[in-house]
Amino acid sequence: MENEKSKGQILEEKLLSKPKSLGEIENTLLEQSREFCEGYKEFLSHKTEREIVDYVVPMLEKKGYKEFRHGTEYVAGDKVYMVNRGKTLIMVTVGRRGISEGARIGVSHIDSPRLDFKPNPLFESMGMAYFKTHYYGGIKKYQWFAIPLSLHGVVCLKDGSTVKISIGEKEDEPRFCVTDLLPHLAQNQMKKPMAEALEGEQMNILAGCWTYPDDKVSEKVKLNVMSIMHEKYGITESDFLSAELCAVPSCKPMDLGFDGSMIIGYGQDDRVCAYSNLMAEIDTKDQEYTTITVFADKEETGSDGNTGMRSTFFRDFLEDFVSVYGAESRHVLQKSVCLSCDVNAAVDPAFPEVFEMNNCSFLNRGPVVSKYTGSRGKYSTNDASAETMGFLRRILDENKIPWQVGELGKVDIGGGGTIASEISVHNLDTVDMGVPVLSMHAPMEVVSKADVYMLYKAISAFYASAYVKD
Ligand code: MN
Ligand code: MN
Repeated sequence: MENEKSKGQILEEKLLSKPKSLGEIENTLLEQSREFCEGYKEFLSHKTEREIVDYVVPMLEKKGYKEFRHGTEYVAGDKVYMVNRGKTLIMVTVGRRGISEGARIGVSHIDSPRLDFKPNPLFESMGMAYFKTHYYGGIKKYQWFAIPLSLHGVVCLKDGSTVKISIGEKEDEPRFCVTDLLPHLAQNQMKKPMAEALEGEQMNILAGCWTYPDDKVSEKVKLNVMSIMHEKYGITESDFLSAELCAVPSCKPMDLGFDGSMIIGYGQDDRVCAYSNLMAEIDTKDQEYTTITVFADKEETGSDGNTGMRSTFFRDFLEDFVSVYGAESRHVLQKSVCLSCDVNAAVDPAFPEVFEMNNCSFLNRGPVVSKYTGSRGKYSTNDASAETMGFLRRILDENKIPWQVGELGKVDIGGGGTIASEISVHNLDTVDMGVPVLSMHAPMEVVSKADVYMLYKAISAFYASAYVKD
């Protein structure tokens, strides 16, 4: 009799929802996610949007994807991809239904906060050579001082050729850093508000301190650095004018915690969603609807420019892709559903005051579905409709995928956006779904492996679903 449930308990189970952690739901999930996350860590070790595209394209070709050709009438099962300027990528698997019935779209971004070189970066001061930077994306500046950095990017030479640079990742390569003030002399600095304690113009990357052996030269350290770079890459100082170089944390993605249940690494916003989305796209076969997977650039600086999601590259591609079937892209978009796959802030017990515990997301509770983002009275948000939320909920629940909702912090405490608002302007039903992250936008961010794996499962279920949108 003692084990019998009371009337209230039965009613409670029926009427109320109680969040559970993934470990409580299925304890073997961590084990299941480990192998998937090994591939993820490899993906994550590519640190710029260009490096991700360069890494993914050969992977796609191995899996049967062909470069998209305008005018070709692709048939069910065909897989195609298109690269935009080496920084964004569109991947498609053609479904059984005609494209005029709509598509399943997944979008994520592959750019992350970093320190970009200025056009005239190299200077010498007090016997040391530095690169001047302008930070890219929303960072807390102090986190980027006194940590090892690597340099990545491209330099376009006068003859039209391009040199790719990546230095500071391999064991035997040098690292770089921005130096900070010692606490002994930081009395005044420590009294300043955090946003003012360190300035953007102090974010200079230390590049060398040894002189070029010639007394007739005025800036010997600068010349020495430039001569090494010239020897290594064939570049001169004026070539920086036509370059895109940046510094990022040089650490590799690593397992975190005694249980190895988490990953610490740079750029997980939003490569964690990009990888889950990529794997779901690659696995897609024999599905009803055509899947379209997009890797976007420039999300961290507002999605502007021709590689950001506000560019027409996505719409142009769609138009080219569907016109051969006599379809109009606007009709296709109306009938499609889009997952904007981006991370959300996981509740951190060190900072409970910024989170509202009923509506913020937690590590290990599965993919976070965010009805809206934005700030200050839902300003600048794609607010997914009840119907779109219901559409996704039905797919996740029927496939037994645990998920949670997630609002980015308490009302009026801050906020932020995703590319959902850029993509939904195409008259496309869009909802945000992603992985909860600790220390978001810090040089090293933290995710739970089981969450990463469950996002992959969730996107796969969305891509495979045959539900007709109302
Ligand atoms: Mn993001
Ligand atoms: Mn971000």
